[in-house]
Amino acid sequence: MRKKIVAGNWKMNLDYNEGLSLFSEVLNMVKDEATGTQEVVVCSPFIHLHSLVQLAKGNGRVSIGAQNAHQAESGAYTGEVSAKQVKSVGAAYVILGHSERRQYFGETNQLLAQKTDTALANGLKPIFCIGETLQEREAGEHFNIIKTQLQEGVYHLDADKFSQIVLAYEPVWAIGTGVTATSEQAQEIHAFIRQELAAKYGQQVADDTTILYGGSCNAKNAPELFAQPDIDGGLIGGASLKSRDFTDIVKVFN
Ligand code: PEP
Repeated sequence: MRKKIVAGNWKMNLDYNEGLSLFSEVLNMVKDEATGTQEVVVCSPFIHLHSLVQLAKGNGRVSIGAQNAHQAESGAYTGEVSAKQVKSVGAAYVILGHSERRQYFGETNQLLAQKTDTALANGLKPIFCIGETLQEREAGEHFNIIKTQLQEGVYHLDADKFSQIVLAYEPVWAIGTGVTATSEQAQEIHAFIRQELAAKYGQQVADDTTILYGGSCNAKNAPELFAQPDIDGGLIGGASLKSRDFTDIVKVFN
């Protein structure tokens, strides 16, 4: 059965020491809280990855992820970081396809398909983000957009490889805006995604795929969102930057 996951995305926030203190607080709180969340993932900037992995050792429920990795194995790509390098410090996950990467860095579905392959080939589990813009939703295009992002981004994978992936539905209009999708809107898309996965990979794979919701998720709205049958946890931006806010979301599953 699919895992319940709460993942934090720190984005480009926190210097080295701030990141370590926040993570230490999260670790302490998570260890003391009874929760049905099966895995807590913290996706930090690259500078924190190694230290967070060391701090998390011995805590089987907490994993570390990066927020990006390059599509090439290695080479002359000044300033970039490879999936192999991310894996070598002990990180388990990498966020791919976040709308900020799509929007500000021109990442296309085709590029993301390559990044997914390279991440998987290096033993990283992608948290693959999909979601429509406000304009696309208002034009009634949201289902088509999601379908295309899946088709072009991950459907080249066989079922075995696909089963390493966590999906995150993140409506772009809800990210960092304080506007959350209603639980009905989110459930509608999550159910659609699962139905699409069933058509592509079969019901078993669809049932086993963790699909996170992301977009202004906080401890107040998480209970209703996480109670939806096809929502298996959250990808949390802003609220992952405060230990109490984040662990309150981790506690929502019980
Ligand atoms: C995100 O960055 O993935 C995100 C969901 O951000 P926020 O929670 O701040 O909307």
